[in-house]
Amino acid sequence: MVQIKFMQKIQNYINGELVEPISKTYIDNYNPSIGEVYSLIPDSDEQDVELATKAAKAAFPKWSKTPKDDRSRILQKLAQLIEDNLDRLAEAESRDNGKPLSLAKRVDIPRAASNFNFYATGILHYASESHAMEDTAINYTLREPIGVCGCISPWNLPLYLFTWKIAPALAAGNTVVAKPSEVTPFTAYLLSELCVEAGLPNGVLNIVHGLGHKVGTAITKHTDIPVISFTGGTVTGAEIIKIAGPMFKKMSLELGGKNPNIIFDDCDFDKALKTTMHSSFANQGQICLCGSRIFVKRGIYEKFKIAFVEKTKKLKVGNPFDTDTNLGAVVSQPHMEKVLSYVKLAQEEGGTVLTGGHQVHLDGELQNGYYIAPTIIEGLTFDCRTNQEEIFGPVVTIMPFDTEEEVLMMANSTKYGLASTVWTQDVTKAHNVASKLHSGIVWVNCWLLRDLRTPFGGVKNSGVGREGGFNAFEFFTEPKNVCIKL
Ligand code: NDP
Repeated sequence: MVQIKFMQKIQNYINGELVEPISKTYIDNYNPSIGEVYSLIPDSDEQDVELATKAAKAAFPKWSKTPKDDRSRILQKLAQLIEDNLDRLAEAESRDNGKPLSLAKRVDIPRAASNFNFYATGILHYASESHAMEDTAINYTLREPIGVCGCISPWNLPLYLFTWKIAPALAAGNTVVAKPSEVTPFTAYLLSELCVEAGLPNGVLNIVHGLGHKVGTAITKHTDIPVISFTGGTVTGAEIIKIAGPMFKKMSLELGGKNPNIIFDDCDFDKALKTTMHSSFANQGQICLCGSRIFVKRGIYEKFKIAFVEKTKKLKVGNPFDTDTNLGAVVSQPHMEKVLSYVKLAQEEGGTVLTGGHQVHLDGELQNGYYIAPTIIEGLTFDCRTNQEEIFGPVVTIMPFDTEEEVLMMANSTKYGLASTVWTQDVTKAHNVASKLHSGIVWVNCWLLRDLRTPFGGVKNSGVGREGGFNAFEFFTEPKNVCIKL
């Protein structure tokens, strides 16, 4: 007998309602851990974006004038609902993305709730400036919500990064048209259900699912959307600039990275090793902040390399739902193929695979899943393609260095500049190296230690602008200076 599986249809969230795409057509949504379609995503287009933008525009006057205490209360309720639904959301995230359920429970979903809590309360403390000109005049700066904001997010930390944009935009009094990644839409869909439950007024947040070149482009070029907050790849960021730049839209672009992890010989060896395991392979290496180029001072290079390889070999690649799984599936078959093609390239460039470097074939229903063994490669030059281009998977390179100057030159040699990690017990060296690294974020003796008040973003091709803390409110509001002559 043929088994007919029930395919859940994800719906758009427009003007407070869950609705079908106007075209009534859908795209397959894969579960990467089994390599099978398990739900359907609206294949929306510019007509759906038009409806969503109309709804957001109509909701703006009232929402922007809603007292911030009331906006704050609604968004805090949403945060509470995310916390109440932790298990359901974490399971959905793991199924949609392939990440270990334990990671979704520990990081992705709690952080989505924190994003709402942080900005819902942050707006209550956000104050604008005034500048007195002795007896002549007084200036005060109003910070006004701008209007409809377009928020476009990637697949690696789906709900976490989706809410990172939406929360400050809404708290500041804007309305939003948002597009989650078409590869991982499920938790954004569940969030829309929670928005209804939280009593978010109709049209304040609108979620349109679908492909980047249809929905993303329609948002980017819509004349009633003056603000674009985007997180994703550098190439996509450039496409957005081409459209939104000549329209003089306000843009925040959080893009790719190729982050250095610099390990000096005076580091706390065990801590550096333990954290390097996370910074290399957390979320299958699919975090924009992962340290994919590991530079180790020559004196401890062999010792570090042997210990790192040994520990990596013990990592379990397995069912994302098992509690002892360290690495789940990568997000899609094309992505798996892209990552593995970089391993091949590394070998062509003279690299030696110390461990991993291949697909992992699991048994039973996982046999068609997209699993890659955590991979360490040595013997490459710092300027080869493998060391310059973003791979975004569980693949790292390891290289020795001799001097501070040399490692800084190699670390700064890519077109990216998102995050760096430095391991040393010498405070002066830490300050010196941190000041000379070309990156928006430097972690010393830690990684991914996040305080949401701090500026977040990259330099060079890793992005334009900063999010995080009051930076996000500055982005999502327009300053207007009023000068009153006394
Ligand atoms: P993409 O750039 O492919 O996609 C990001 C989002 O943009 C998706 O929603 C995508 O839709 C959409 N999109 C695609 N094309 C267009 C377009 N022409 N116009 C408007 N929107 C479009 O990135 P990935 O989803 O592959 O995410 C991985 C990348 O994100 C990596 O480079 C990573 O470094 C970066 N990233 C950066 C972070 C940072 O903070 N700096 C954080 C996390 C990730 P669709 O899914 O349908 O293609």
